[in-house]
Amino acid sequence: SREWHLVARPHGWPVPADFALRETPVAEPAEGRILVRNLHFSVDPYMRGRMNDVKSYIPPFALDAPMDGGAVGEVVASNAEGFAVGDHVLHGLGWREYADVPAKGATKVDPALAPLSSYLGVLGMTGLTAYAGLFEVASFKEGDAVFVSGAAGAVGSQVGQMARLKGASRVIGSAGSDEKVKFLVEELGFDAAFNYKNGPVKDQLREAAPDGIDVYFDNVGGDHLEAAISSLNVHGRATICGMIAQYNDTEPVPGPRNMAMIIGKRLRLQGVLVGDHYGLQNQFVQEVGGWLGSGELKHRETFVEGIENGVDAFLGLLRGDNTGKMIVSVTR
Ligand code: NDP
Repeated sequence: SREWHLVARPHGWPVPADFALRETPVAEPAEGRILVRNLHFSVDPYMRGRMNDVKSYIPPFALDAPMDGGAVGEVVASNAEGFAVGDHVLHGLGWREYADVPAKGATKVDPALAPLSSYLGVLGMTGLTAYAGLFEVASFKEGDAVFVSGAAGAVGSQVGQMARLKGASRVIGSAGSDEKVKFLVEELGFDAAFNYKNGPVKDQLREAAPDGIDVYFDNVGGDHLEAAISSLNVHGRATICGMIAQYNDTEPVPGPRNMAMIIGKRLRLQGVLVGDHYGLQNQFVQEVGGWLGSGELKHRETFVEGIENGVDAFLGLLRGDNTGKMIVSVTR
């Protein structure tokens, strides 16, 4: 079985030489474990943080060991009660062809209910992040005007649509290409969108939201956050979900220059960690599953085929090659 190891800690942008695809033997699962043939695994922005040797909410990847992350696959051998050969499972040992998974770390998923890759995206971690970040953390309410950055990505594309479905007065998104902007407006029903590479975010946001915004869902940080603070209305709320604009920075970047506005406008900026919100899982799957079934909510996936292209997929994600969820399909 082949698996991706981190072999050097990236400084700035990761390079292919920081990773190695290595061969490892596959053994029968021990008591309480299952052997899973991975079909899809997830590459996610938070993995960049795990490549640094720093203490965070999730431990760093070890060097010369397989990286991990969300994956879905088929059970090919089971030594655990409740799991049979042929079952499909969601688990945390991605970045490899075969995974030796403790049964308690695996959740059965039904490929008849939704395509398996959805459990990594729209019905999985990124979908729940959008749902919890918008409804719990930002306390979204009907009539709010919502701005989301990284809007064509896995989390952002769901945030904008969920806000629309729950009665937002206006949904605005930003993304890194004109094609993505077109996708947001024409396919996902955003009221307005702009390409942040075409001009200052502050000016483009003001033009897209002349009456201001009530909620900002931040996936990007930097000048996006500063612009959002300027455009937020009194009692506005921001969910701080990600700051991808700075994940490859080698020096700390200065914060927004307009923080004093938080006072006068009584803004609330609050971080979200999806791990705190798994209690919402059933409600989330029911509601989002319903929207998917009725066709009211759309989701896009970008597939990269072949485990050997896993690192390219990850680097592509950081560059913005994806629309919707970036997924690596383990073909052989
Ligand atoms: P995405 O599918 O959104 O992929 C990442 C996207 O980031 C790229 O497609 C690219 O799109 C955009 N991007 C890259 N560099 C920049 C930049 N300098 N400025 C603006 N945009 C940039 O990934 P996810 O949906 O999985 O994650 C989105 C955000 O949410 C990330 O910040 C991630 O860390 C965070 N997150 C946080 C979680 C939590 O629990 N707090 C859980 C899951 C995700 P473009 O072409 O538009 O530039």
